[in-house]
Amino acid sequence: MLINIKDAPEKAQRIFVQLIDIFEEQEINPTPLNYYIWYQYYKGDHPKFRQEMDNALQDPFGYNDRLGRRLYDEYFAEDESGNDFDRAFKRLINLVIKKMNVWSDKLEKHTQDLNHYTTSLASNDIDAATLKELTHSVLNTASSMKQSSEEFQKEMMDSNEEILQLRKELIEARAETLTDELTEIGNRKAFNNAIQDLADNTQENPQSLVLILTDIDHFKRFNDTFGHLVGDSVLRYFANLMKKTKDDTETVCRYGGEEFAILLSHSSLEKAKERAESIRHNLETAKLKRKDSEKTLGAITASFGVAAYQGEGVETIEEWINRADDALYKAKNLGRNQIVSEEELAKS
Ligand code: GH3
Ligand code: MG
Ligand code: MG
Repeated sequence: MLINIKDAPEKAQRIFVQLIDIFEEQEINPTPLNYYIWYQYYKGDHPKFRQEMDNALQDPFGYNDRLGRRLYDEYFAEDESGNDFDRAFKRLINLVIKKMNVWSDKLEKHTQDLNHYTTSLASNDIDAATLKELTHSVLNTASSMKQSSEEFQKEMMDSNEEILQLRKELIEARAETLTDELTEIGNRKAFNNAIQDLADNTQENPQSLVLILTDIDHFKRFNDTFGHLVGDSVLRYFANLMKKTKDDTETVCRYGGEEFAILLSHSSLEKAKERAESIRHNLETAKLKRKDSEKTLGAITASFGVAAYQGEGVETIEEWINRADDALYKAKNLGRNQIVSEEELAKS
């Protein structure tokens, strides 16, 4: 393997995982070169290249292998910059290009030979022995062409195999690094990725992005009373409760400890408050029992802070999260087991 997933920076991993869907949707051949071009496009370090891709992509069938090759030669083939991962990737592409050149040289040689034989065959004064010899040469050349072509195809398949393997590893690695082991929902890193992606893609109506932060009430006391392992199962229960009641527009992550984040897209402050209320109610009324003794664990409650995104240029993502956090803090101060939205922050 020329490319090792461990060498891939996190940003590259994120881009590659995205490309898997894009390539399938747009029916782009999953060749190393195409992957590299699209990776660079999303990485966005080359404004001129990016502009050229944007122009080409105005046409829905604007991207093809040939354009990819031209852009690669123009912008990347000679470019020595880039990280280790970029360089390893380029080594793979250069290997493929070298093989293609060898193949095209062979093809050209064979074609020349064939032309030569055909010209000789067309001549009038040709004796039986020469005819036999020429026919033999034509057949030989045709058979070498077939063989080279098969070798070439196999080599191309191997290069693509490498990419397919890389894709598989990336998907697995991503799933591992983004999942919280205890609750099996997204972890803090998954949350960071999700909030960044959503914020980037919601320029038009930022307020439809709403963040709910929730934190289990008096969880320390709970652990002290029932033990850490029972505490763990409560965390799993709470995570699962949110996961199984969510729809596709929601992302639920473990923000840390006994705190969770719910990101809603296509929502509003009002809708998010309703969603938080429904979660709050479900948790409070769940009749949790210890598995071993069937003893009840009493009511477990959580507090919630809700804030909508103001949009890029108006506030940073950090400021948005801080407002949700302030609201959560206020919910705690007001007596816990309740929802506070950012509107109520101003009122003291
Ligand atoms: P508050 O209502 O103000 O949130 O009180 P609290 O006790 O929940 O808050 P505090 O931050 O004082 O304590 C958080 C507790 O959560 C302490 C910590 O042991 C527990 N906790 C954090 N992560 C885990 C975990 O993975 N498993 C278990 N069982 N407990 C955890
Ligand atoms: Mg707590
Ligand atoms: Mg906490």
